[in-house]
Amino acid sequence: MSKREAIFRPLVLALIVSLGFAVAWAMVFFWCYATVQMAFQPSQPYHETSVLADGSVVESIRVGGAAAQSITTTLDEEPVSEGEDPLGLRFELDGAALTPSRQLSTGPYPPGSWSSRITRLPFGRPPISWWYLVHNGARRGRAYLVGYDPNSKLPAGYIGRSGFRAEEPTPDDCFEMDAGRMYMCIVSGAELSPHRRPDNLPEIPSWMVYLALDDRLVEVDLVKRKVRTVLEEKGIVSLGALSRALRKVAGQPQTQPQPLQRFLAIRMKDRVAVIHPISGLRRDYVLSAELSAYTFSFYELLDDTALIRFARQSKDGTVTNVFRWINAEGETLREEQFARRQHWPSVPAMSCIVSLAMPVPAIIEPYMLAFAQEIYLGSDGAEDFISVMGLALSMSWPGLVLVNFLGAISAWFCYRRQKRYARPWTRTWVVFVFLFGVPGLVGYLFHRRWPPRLPCPECDAPAPRDREACAACGKQFAPPAPKGIEVFA
Ligand SMILES: [Zn+2]
Repeated sequence: MSKREAIFRPLVLALIVSLGFAVAWAMVFFWCYATVQMAFQPSQPYHETSVLADGSVVESIRVGGAAAQSITTTLDEEPVSEGEDPLGLRFELDGAALTPSRQLSTGPYPPGSWSSRITRLPFGRPPISWWYLVHNGARRGRAYLVGYDPNSKLPAGYIGRSGFRAEEPTPDDCFEMDAGRMYMCIVSGAELSPHRRPDNLPEIPSWMVYLALDDRLVEVDLVKRKVRTVLEEKGIVSLGALSRALRKVAGQPQTQPQPLQRFLAIRMKDRVAVIHPISGLRRDYVLSAELSAYTFSFYELLDDTALIRFARQSKDGTVTNVFRWINAEGETLREEQFARRQHWPSVPAMSCIVSLAMPVPAIIEPYMLAFAQEIYLGSDGAEDFISVMGLALSMSWPGLVLVNFLGAISAWFCYRRQKRYARPWTRTWVVFVFLFGVPGLVGYLFHRRWPPRLPCPECDAPAPRDREACAACGKQFAPPAPKGIEVFA
């Protein structure tokens, strides 16, 4: 057996034991954590605010668990009962979720993975092809559409800037698009409804797909396979869809939701433009500079007013939900704030909980840093890698200190045992146990049998008896005294 192999096999064995223990420990930890949390947390009333189809905001407070009592009031704390509400409480208004420019997201997938680079586009009736948006994954990257025939599963063609083509588009013919912004730049139309719209605008069918590029809004018709520039304007930040509020009709209780016309909401640096891409209709709302860092929901109300809903989070875990009514010039007409103490722990406390659940520096440190990159990139003053890491460390240092401390203690136990048993490869094992923390120590202890340590007849030091000679003085151990039952062959 080569020297290299002599350490390789035990290390792999210890690694498997460590990872198995880490997974089992994390499950037990979270189960206990959840049980303790449920036992000690008082059942707090649950608040929920929603925007109704007529643009009014109501707040529902639910008290108790399964048999919950729900009370719904307006923001002026006037009770609302379902019977009095002409639109029906369940009919909520669609707001457009508009993200700020600097915040990048790959949705639920890791950056650069295929899942984050391909988006399936909704096909409308008639489904002639299935269309996907495929991105090359780069920050200032390129994307094109590819269609597949649902029967033969063969490519049916491609759509680039210049429209439909049979071959894969050349780089010049791709849509320039930031990989991290794919999810905030695509909106499609809706299923056509048989009801007549209140404002007589043509509906946007579901096979119309809109792509927000840096300087343009592009419409792709997946049935006609045509590309059209709807709007040319620099600094498009994100794109969403919304429905405009409906006028309340007194004394006419509505049992069905009214068909709501879908509009596109385009967030630009200093304004939100609500457009109807087919008729060309457009209404603009100026944004105050304060909002530039926030993701917000944008609701268009009647009489050229809008409602902006966003959440401010402070470091102690308090979340303030802000409802701000504005006019087209961006002046605040009314503002309501609801501060709620979050039920979940603050970021520093959470970092400690995660570190205790998975006390493995080699896993937890890259995870925390990658997580921080995702959360903090684009928030105030965090433009580059160094400032993002600084911000991340300022929030999650308690957890990082804890996990390294546990790793160091485990490594010390490992070092002591290595010395006691006079084992080789001490440096390798100590580094291994430090990196894999407490589970690493468990893996180290259980990857082999440990021989008994008995006092050496020569020097009296406790000596491991899995060898011929004493590890302390080097003297050969005497063979056990013959008992007369030995077999000599
Ligand atoms: Zn000895």
